[in-house]
Amino acid sequence: MKVHNAEIIISAVSPKQYPETELPEIALAGRSNVGKSSFINTLINRKNLARTSGKPGKTQTLNFYLIEEALHFVDVPGYGYAKVSKTERAKWGEMIETYMTTREQLKAVVSLVDLRHAPTQEDIQMYEFLKYYDIPVIVVATKKDKIPRGKWNKHESIIKKALNFDKSDDFILFSSQTKEGKEEAWQAIEKYL
Ligand code: GDP
Repeated sequence: MKVHNAEIIISAVSPKQYPETELPEIALAGRSNVGKSSFINTLINRKNLARTSGKPGKTQTLNFYLIEEALHFVDVPGYGYAKVSKTERAKWGEMIETYMTTREQLKAVVSLVDLRHAPTQEDIQMYEFLKYYDIPVIVVATKKDKIPRGKWNKHESIIKKALNFDKSDDFILFSSQTKEGKEEAWQAIEKYL
Protein backbone atom coordinates (compact mmCIF):
# COMPACT_ATOMS: atom_id res chain seq x y z
CA MET A 1 0.00 0.00 0.00
CA LYS A 2 1.25 3.46 -0.89
CA VAL A 3 0.36 5.63 2.08
CA HIS A 4 -0.17 9.35 1.65
CA ASN A 5 -2.64 9.96 4.45
CA ALA A 6 -2.39 8.83 8.04
CA GLU A 7 -3.76 10.51 11.12
CA ILE A 8 -4.42 9.68 14.74
CA ILE A 9 -8.13 9.26 15.38
CA ILE A 10 -8.33 8.55 19.09
CA SER A 11 -6.42 7.30 22.10
CA ALA A 12 -8.87 4.90 23.66
CA VAL A 13 -9.01 3.02 26.92
CA SER A 14 -12.52 1.58 26.97
CA PRO A 15 -14.61 0.01 24.18
CA LYS A 16 -17.04 2.92 24.07
CA GLN A 17 -14.16 5.06 22.83
CA TYR A 18 -13.25 2.77 19.92
CA PRO A 19 -14.11 4.37 16.57
CA GLU A 20 -17.56 3.46 15.26
CA THR A 21 -16.59 2.29 11.79
CA GLU A 22 -16.46 -1.01 9.99
CA LEU A 23 -12.91 -0.46 8.74
CA PRO A 24 -10.56 -3.40 9.25
CA GLU A 25 -8.08 -3.02 12.08
CA ILE A 26 -4.51 -4.29 12.40
CA ALA A 27 -3.15 -4.12 15.94
CA LEU A 28 0.56 -3.81 16.71
CA ALA A 29 2.06 -5.21 19.89
CA GLY A 30 5.53 -5.65 21.30
CA ARG A 31 7.68 -4.93 24.29
CA SER A 32 8.80 -1.35 24.88
CA ASN A 33 11.75 -0.35 22.72
CA VAL A 34 11.33 -3.20 20.24
CA GLY A 35 10.91 -0.68 17.40
CA LYS A 36 7.11 -0.56 17.15
CA SER A 37 6.82 3.19 16.60
CA SER A 38 9.62 3.04 14.04
CA PHE A 39 7.82 0.19 12.26
CA ILE A 40 4.54 2.12 12.12
CA ASN A 41 6.24 5.30 10.96
CA THR A 42 8.13 3.40 8.24
CA LEU A 43 4.96 1.75 6.92
CA ILE A 44 3.07 5.04 6.76
CA ASN A 45 6.03 7.06 5.45
CA ARG A 46 6.13 9.42 8.41
CA LYS A 47 8.97 10.49 10.66
CA ASN A 48 7.14 10.59 13.96
CA LEU A 49 3.39 10.22 13.84
CA ALA A 50 3.62 7.20 16.13
CA ARG A 51 5.62 7.91 19.27
CA THR A 52 7.00 5.66 21.92
CA SER A 53 4.19 5.62 24.44
CA GLY A 54 5.23 2.75 26.68
CA LYS A 55 7.21 4.72 29.21
CA PRO A 56 6.04 4.29 32.80
CA GLY A 57 3.87 7.10 34.02
CA LYS A 58 2.53 7.80 30.56
CA THR A 59 -1.11 7.03 29.89
CA GLN A 60 -1.51 3.55 28.54
CA THR A 61 -3.93 3.84 25.65
CA LEU A 62 -4.83 2.10 22.43
CA ASN A 63 -3.94 4.58 19.70
CA PHE A 64 -6.07 4.30 16.56
CA TYR A 65 -4.49 5.58 13.33
CA LEU A 66 -6.59 5.96 10.22
CA ILE A 67 -4.60 4.96 7.14
CA GLU A 68 -5.75 6.04 3.66
CA GLU A 69 -9.41 5.92 4.80
CA ALA A 70 -8.96 2.15 4.32
CA LEU A 71 -7.92 0.67 7.66
CA HIS A 72 -6.91 1.43 11.22
CA PHE A 73 -3.59 0.63 12.80
CA VAL A 74 -4.14 0.11 16.52
CA ASP A 75 -0.97 0.80 18.47
CA VAL A 76 -0.99 -1.27 21.64
CA PRO A 77 1.10 0.15 24.50
CA GLY A 78 4.44 -1.61 24.89
CA TYR A 79 4.80 -4.27 27.53
CA GLY A 80 7.79 -5.32 29.57
CA TYR A 81 8.51 -2.30 31.72
CA ALA A 82 9.77 -3.67 35.03
CA LYS A 83 8.88 -0.50 36.90
CA VAL A 84 5.18 -0.56 36.11
CA SER A 85 3.09 -1.34 39.18
CA LYS A 86 1.01 -4.50 39.51
CA THR A 87 -2.19 -2.49 39.32
CA GLU A 88 -1.07 -0.77 36.14
CA ARG A 89 0.01 -4.04 34.61
CA ALA A 90 -3.36 -5.60 35.40
CA LYS A 91 -5.15 -2.63 33.83
CA TRP A 92 -2.96 -2.94 30.74
CA GLY A 93 -3.76 -6.66 30.47
CA GLU A 94 -7.47 -6.10 30.82
CA MET A 95 -7.50 -3.37 28.19
CA ILE A 96 -5.61 -5.51 25.63
CA GLU A 97 -7.64 -8.60 26.38
CA THR A 98 -10.94 -6.77 26.04
CA TYR A 99 -9.89 -5.21 22.75
CA MET A 100 -8.41 -8.34 21.21
CA THR A 101 -11.12 -10.77 22.23
CA THR A 102 -14.16 -8.63 21.47
CA ARG A 103 -13.33 -6.32 18.58
CA GLU A 104 -14.84 -7.70 15.38
CA GLN A 105 -12.93 -5.26 13.19
CA LEU A 106 -9.61 -6.73 14.36
CA LYS A 107 -8.24 -8.80 11.46
CA ALA A 108 -4.66 -9.57 12.51
CA VAL A 109 -1.99 -8.61 15.01
CA VAL A 110 1.54 -7.59 14.11
CA SER A 111 3.62 -9.01 16.93
CA LEU A 112 7.03 -7.36 17.03
CA VAL A 113 10.10 -9.10 18.43
CA ASP A 114 13.77 -8.10 18.37
CA LEU A 115 15.74 -10.19 15.87
CA ARG A 116 18.85 -9.89 18.05
CA HIS A 117 17.41 -11.69 21.06
CA ALA A 118 15.44 -14.78 21.96
CA PRO A 119 11.81 -13.84 22.61
CA THR A 120 11.01 -12.77 26.19
CA GLN A 121 8.44 -14.58 28.32
CA GLU A 122 6.03 -11.77 27.50
CA ASP A 123 6.64 -12.16 23.75
CA ILE A 124 5.86 -15.86 24.10
CA GLN A 125 2.76 -15.19 26.20
CA MET A 126 1.47 -12.69 23.66
CA TYR A 127 1.92 -15.17 20.80
CA GLU A 128 0.25 -17.98 22.77
CA PHE A 129 -2.63 -15.68 23.67
CA LEU A 130 -3.19 -14.76 20.01
CA LYS A 131 -3.04 -18.40 18.90
CA TYR A 132 -5.48 -19.39 21.64
CA TYR A 133 -8.02 -16.87 20.36
CA ASP A 134 -7.35 -17.81 16.72
CA ILE A 135 -6.22 -14.31 15.82
CA PRO A 136 -3.93 -14.29 12.77
CA VAL A 137 -0.41 -13.10 13.62
CA ILE A 138 2.26 -11.43 11.55
CA VAL A 139 5.54 -11.76 13.45
CA VAL A 140 7.91 -8.93 12.61
CA ALA A 141 11.50 -9.35 13.76
CA THR A 142 12.96 -5.85 14.06
CA LYS A 143 16.44 -4.33 13.86
CA LYS A 144 17.59 -6.69 11.11
CA ASP A 145 20.36 -4.20 10.23
CA LYS A 146 22.01 -4.93 13.59
CA ILE A 147 22.61 -8.59 12.72
CA PRO A 148 25.04 -9.68 10.00
CA ARG A 149 23.38 -11.31 7.00
CA GLY A 150 25.02 -14.71 7.69
CA LYS A 151 23.24 -14.93 11.04
CA TRP A 152 19.70 -13.98 9.99
CA ASN A 153 18.60 -17.61 9.55
CA LYS A 154 19.96 -18.70 12.89
CA HIS A 155 18.21 -15.87 14.74
CA GLU A 156 14.96 -16.53 12.88
CA SER A 157 15.10 -20.22 13.88
CA ILE A 158 15.69 -19.39 17.54
CA ILE A 159 12.68 -17.07 17.61
CA LYS A 160 10.41 -19.49 15.76
CA LYS A 161 11.34 -22.34 18.05
CA ALA A 162 10.77 -20.33 21.23
CA LEU A 163 7.37 -19.15 19.98
CA ASN A 164 6.35 -22.58 18.72
CA PHE A 165 5.69 -20.64 15.54
CA ASP A 166 2.71 -21.66 13.44
CA LYS A 167 3.68 -21.88 9.74
CA SER A 168 0.36 -20.42 8.65
CA ASP A 169 1.41 -17.08 10.18
CA ASP A 170 3.77 -14.68 8.44
CA PHE A 171 7.31 -14.05 9.65
CA ILE A 172 9.09 -10.95 8.39
CA LEU A 173 12.59 -9.66 8.99
CA PHE A 174 12.46 -5.88 9.19
CA SER A 175 14.64 -2.82 9.55
CA SER A 176 13.35 0.70 9.93
CA GLN A 177 16.87 1.90 9.08
CA THR A 178 17.18 0.18 5.70
CA LYS A 179 13.40 -0.21 5.16
CA GLU A 180 13.95 -3.89 4.36
CA GLY A 181 10.77 -5.85 4.93
CA LYS A 182 8.49 -2.86 4.38
CA GLU A 183 6.86 -4.19 1.18
CA GLU A 184 6.63 -7.68 2.62
CA ALA A 185 4.95 -6.32 5.74
CA TRP A 186 2.37 -4.43 3.69
CA GLN A 187 1.70 -7.53 1.58
CA ALA A 188 1.13 -9.59 4.72
CA ILE A 189 -1.20 -6.93 6.17
CA GLU A 190 -3.15 -6.50 2.92
CA LYS A 191 -4.06 -10.20 2.91
CA TYR A 192 -6.26 -9.47 5.93
CA LEU A 193 -8.04 -6.35 4.66
P1 GDP B 1 9.01 1.33 20.57
O1 GDP B 1 9.20 1.65 22.02
O2 GDP B 1 8.75 -0.13 20.35
O3 GDP B 1 8.00 2.18 19.87
O4 GDP B 1 10.43 1.55 19.85
P2 GDP B 1 10.99 2.74 18.96
O5 GDP B 1 10.46 2.66 17.57
O6 GDP B 1 10.83 4.02 19.68
O7 GDP B 1 12.53 2.30 18.88
C1 GDP B 1 13.32 2.10 20.02
C2 GDP B 1 14.78 2.35 19.69
O8 GDP B 1 15.24 1.40 18.73
C3 GDP B 1 15.03 3.72 19.05
O9 GDP B 1 16.26 4.20 19.50
C4 GDP B 1 15.08 3.42 17.56
O10 GDP B 1 15.85 4.33 16.84
C5 GDP B 1 15.70 2.04 17.55
N1 GDP B 1 15.25 1.24 16.38
C6 GDP B 1 13.99 0.95 16.06
N2 GDP B 1 13.94 0.18 14.94
C7 GDP B 1 15.22 0.01 14.54
C8 GDP B 1 15.83 -0.70 13.45
O11 GDP B 1 15.19 -1.32 12.60
N3 GDP B 1 17.21 -0.65 13.37
C9 GDP B 1 17.96 0.00 14.29
N4 GDP B 1 19.29 -0.05 14.14
N5 GDP B 1 17.42 0.67 15.33
C10 GDP B 1 16.07 0.68 15.46
